[in-house]
Amino acid sequence: MCIFCKIVKGEIPADRVYEDDKYMAFKDINPKAPVHILIIPKEHIGYLSEIDESNKYIIGDMAIIANKIAKNTGIDKSGYRIVINNGPDSGQEVFHIHMHLLGGKKMVFKA
Ligand code: AMP
Ligand code: ZN
Repeated sequence: MCIFCKIVKGEIPADRVYEDDKYMAFKDINPKAPVHILIIPKEHIGYLSEIDESNKYIIGDMAIIANKIAKNTGIDKSGYRIVINNGPDSGQEVFHIHMHLLGGKKMVFKA
């Protein structure tokens, strides 16, 4: 079982900031910004490249959750970035799809 599935099951601890029946969000263990939250579907999907017509709602749902968390953490006005890494060149390390929510400082790297 992957590390994020273990977090969903409660087998590995995580600093949860949001949960509903389909999604969970928790603080990144190695934060790259003052606010760095990971939003995941509870269902195991390995890669963004597995998103298609049948499950595209997951990306929208995660964006809505990111917006809510941005409001709750007070970065909605200062701005934030969402990132989904996919595959080797992106540096993806955990192979369970996740959306990074980053904020609380000016982003140095501008995509
Ligand atoms: P990615 O490079 O997009 O695959 O991002 C994986 C992210 O998961 C990294 O930012 C890690 O710091 C984070 N991470 C890995 N293990 C854990 C964990 N147990 N709890 C919280 N975040 C984690
Ligand atoms: Zn998983």
